[in-house]
Amino acid sequence: MQDVFCPIKLTGVAASLCDAVNLEKPENAGEKIEVLHKLTDGKGIDRIFMYNPDAVALWIFEKYTDLFTPVMLDSDITLPLQTVMPSVTPVCFATMYTGAEPEIHGIQSYTKPVVKTDSIFDVFIRNGKKPCIVSTGNDSMSKIFLERDMDYFIVETPDEANEKALELIEKDEYDLICVYNGNYDGRMHRVGPEGEEAIEALKHNIKAYETFANAIKENWTAHKTLLGFAPDHGCHEIDGGAGSHGLMMPEDMNIVHFYSVI
Ligand SMILES: [Zn+2]
Repeated sequence: MQDVFCPIKLTGVAASLCDAVNLEKPENAGEKIEVLHKLTDGKGIDRIFMYNPDAVALWIFEKYTDLFTPVMLDSDITLPLQTVMPSVTPVCFATMYTGAEPEIHGIQSYTKPVVKTDSIFDVFIRNGKKPCIVSTGNDSMSKIFLERDMDYFIVETPDEANEKALELIEKDEYDLICVYNGNYDGRMHRVGPEGEEAIEALKHNIKAYETFANAIKENWTAHKTLLGFAPDHGCHEIDGGAGSHGLMMPEDMNIVHFYSVI
């Protein structure tokens, strides 16, 4: 069979998120995604919580579907998407949150400069809303959206990031929270996408999403929230049982997002 690439592009996510809360899209963003518009239109959504587990490929979902049961039960839609090239973390997250192609936002390799292109964070800020990013160490999400008038919670480990995010849900102050977890990606590079430690990390990510969904249901009762499970790119196995990504191949390019209105 010929290689199949998902027809809907990651470049539509930023516009869709802004559309969900009735804000204009970032300047260079691709057009919003129809199914996300239909999911969110007229729902009165005023909050967005994006959970960003790194490197969860569509094929991992297809092969380990049962593991995703909690995510599917806490989602209204399952959305296969095609990410951008090169399919590496800073390039893909820059596209996810600006909606712009890599040649526009400027990150076209594994580097982590501050993105100057208009992003969903800028849209929120200029509309008087409060976004924040919760991320770890020197990871891409800790760096590429710096230098904006918003809060950044940069901690050491994914568990600390998730604890901080839960604390922020309880505090009930932010209109947009993006939480980055790099544990599946980190393990996958060492032991392969299906290695035992990688699958354990994936389970950890799935559990985190379920925990966030429950905390939002409990604490944000005065709000309508769009919750997303939103990886950046996929992955594939390479020689020696390790894992990699970055290529124009379905395993790396096809990802799966899940969205729910809570
Ligand atoms: Zn990544």
